Amino acid sequence: MKPIVVIGSGLAGFNVVKEFRKLDKETPLVVLTADDGRSYSKPMLSTGFTKEKAADDLAMASPEQVAEQFNVTVRTHVHVAGIDVDGHRVLLPDDHLDYSTLVLALGADTWTPPLEGDAVGEVFSVNDLMDYGRFREALQGKRRVTILGGGLIGCEFANDLSNGGFEVALVEPMGRCLPLLLPQAASEAVGRGLETLGVRFHFGPLAQAVHHGDDGTLITELSDGTRVESEVVLSAIGLRPRIDMAKEAGLRTNRGILTDRTLRTSTEDIYALGDCAEVEGHVLPYVLPLMASARALAKTLAGEETAVSYGVMPVTIKTPACPVVVCPPPADSEGEWEVAQQENDVTALFRGADGTLLGYALTGEAVKEKLKLNKELPALMP
Ligand code: FAD
Repeated sequence: MKPIVVIGSGLAGFNVVKEFRKLDKETPLVVLTADDGRSYSKPMLSTGFTKEKAADDLAMASPEQVAEQFNVTVRTHVHVAGIDVDGHRVLLPDDHLDYSTLVLALGADTWTPPLEGDAVGEVFSVNDLMDYGRFREALQGKRRVTILGGGLIGCEFANDLSNGGFEVALVEPMGRCLPLLLPQAASEAVGRGLETLGVRFHFGPLAQAVHHGDDGTLITELSDGTRVESEVVLSAIGLRPRIDMAKEAGLRTNRGILTDRTLRTSTEDIYALGDCAEVEGHVLPYVLPLMASARALAKTLAGEETAVSYGVMPVTIKTPACPVVVCPPPADSEGEWEVAQQENDVTALFRGADGTLLGYALTGEAVKEKLKLNKELPALMP
């Protein structure tokens, strides 16, 4: 019997396995993963210094433990090279593997802009547990970190590294914290919160080059001529769904791998979920949507075709210096932000022309309003 093959051992891949095994104990399952296959919760990577957790502390289970617990074969350090759609098989470096059904849980790649300089190869990004281990090692005995990018990952690391005793400089060309997620007043509250921890911001210029300086320092050169000195540079600029393999195999892609509400791609017997997927136009690189997707897909794989529903999908940003919860309005929404503010406590409500609440951003003490507002918001994809 050909197995169901899952590519990816992140939260999306392993949650499909876990949910499927609640419904079907026997059908052969194989997980293929390019990484070391340890089970971990990725959001914990940006609280590791606050909680004093090394990479090994964040690993919840070894691939062998996952294999035993869920009766699944986990093949680690295997980079899948392609999909032979007609042959129903995935192409491995020296081999191939037949599948009955294929699940793509490929995640997203970090994106760093083209930088010049002789130290570009030393710029870190942290997108999995192995990256995190290397990053922690590089920080041993170091004091100063430059972060490129002030989105969710950049701001969370700024808070976490400050808590860990590092001096943090953060470069954000769009001029404020979390510019794509928050309205101005809420961004400024987060900025003030992080400043109380000592974070220094370079708002406006782009990072252009990273050079070696003296005594093991790195110099990040900005477009306004500023030179930011530190021992370690972390890029947290952006993530792009991993779509190349699907595209090459002829699956339809856009920003992500296109799926319908059953997570089915444009190709028979191939499904996608998590950071790599675009589910009926939604690219939501967060944990709540992928959990909902994993539950729905498990049912479909077990024979009961099930569409995923996305309710209200708030994102909690782990910046305790100024807590944030945001429920961004859907991408094409028309409306305006209404902002009420008391120092760093910001309640920003995004309302459509008819007054309907379509999204919110809360900072500081205002995060307590989350539950009340969730009840008022329409489901994202009922
Ligand atoms: P991944 O975890 O990236 O897994 C992808 C898997 O695919 C990996 O195992 C990889 O090896 C494998 N793979 C890819 N290509 C191949 C190939 N060709 N062959 C074999 N294997 C392959 N979200 C929240 O909701 N709340 C948070 O607080 C939050 N905090 C975050 C903090 C950080 C620092 C980061 C980076 C993200 C955070 N997120 C948060 C986002 C959330 O963690 C992700 O949405 C989620 O973990 C994505 O899981 P995934 O399984 O889709 O992808």
